[in-house]
Amino acid sequence: MATVGASRVVTPAGVLQDVDVTMADGVITAVRPATSTCPDRVLAPGFVDLQVNGVDDVDVTDAAGSDWERLDALLLAQGVTTWCPTLVTAPLPTYGHALARIDAAARRRAERRPAIAGAHLEGPFLGGAPGAHPEEHLVPVDLAWLAELPDVVAVMTLAPELPGACEAITMLRDRGVLVALGHSTATWDEVRVATDAGARLVTHLFNGMAPFHHREPGLAGAALSDPRLATSLIADLVHVHPAALQLAFAAKGDATVLVTDAVAWNRAAHAGRAIELGSDGTPRLADGTLAGSALTMDAAVRNVVDHAAVPIGQAITAASTTPAGLLGLPDRGTIEPGRRADLVALTPSLEVEAVWVGGDLAHG
Ligand code: ZN
Repeated sequence: MATVGASRVVTPAGVLQDVDVTMADGVITAVRPATSTCPDRVLAPGFVDLQVNGVDDVDVTDAAGSDWERLDALLLAQGVTTWCPTLVTAPLPTYGHALARIDAAARRRAERRPAIAGAHLEGPFLGGAPGAHPEEHLVPVDLAWLAELPDVVAVMTLAPELPGACEAITMLRDRGVLVALGHSTATWDEVRVATDAGARLVTHLFNGMAPFHHREPGLAGAALSDPRLATSLIADLVHVHPAALQLAFAAKGDATVLVTDAVAWNRAAHAGRAIELGSDGTPRLADGTLAGSALTMDAAVRNVVDHAAVPIGQAITAASTTPAGLLGLPDRGTIEPGRRADLVALTPSLEVEAVWVGGDLAHG
């Protein structure tokens, strides 16, 4: 049994002052007022990142062996305790090997490492706003290929304007895959139909879609107005202006999700195309197109708190609780008795101080 005290603890009942969190056998057993003065820090549920293509110099597409331990350490350092390795658009026959490696990584002994909740396939069924995805590998929706996908796939981002998208969404939803809409120039009506079919997330709102227009609200307008859709945001302050981050949080409340969409920014290429870190610290193609980010989850939380007027409790909900819920993981994502003891302690300026996974100190 271990007890961690903090001056501020983010719980479903709000941000509580001076609280002790007790854990035993991997779960939280008590959350109660502290009997003595607590350290000046914020205790939050471990972060859940739905979209990680890579970190530093490790790309999940070809990660092997000790690369996964390196990813574990890099993610723990940002407070991430559950994540989805994300594969971008590639030729259909190449996914099998990458998914098999992700599945093997997910099955490693769970102690002191972030949990892999499953793979996120971003593409190859994308639409009119592919961004940095290689357009030569975008293909029509292939229901037979989707039907053969292994169970390790947990999230799929596709474009609702493609023929067959609704059948794909229904098929994926029925097998428990979280369906996200993105890289799309769909109309508002097309998004509504896709949401009726079971889509529940919009991938990186504002990026990879038509700008919001008041007469043609499109995917951005549907994301902001349809309560059935959560929206993820890349809060590196480059992909989305702080005012637009503030707008999204105001419109979506607890249906907002922070993702990093990080790539292996210290490599020369992403998805087979040359990338370079721009002067703003963001990876870009040679033509300036944004190619993922070099963002970390703790920085995303700091950015929305410091620059988008998001209260700390709401920022943490977007980094932990909401993505855990979307993944269908009721055992984590909040600090309350019975949940997994996945915790991150942050300094008063929201830097990562320590991380616990299943009650074990894993970082710090
Ligand atoms: Zn994307």
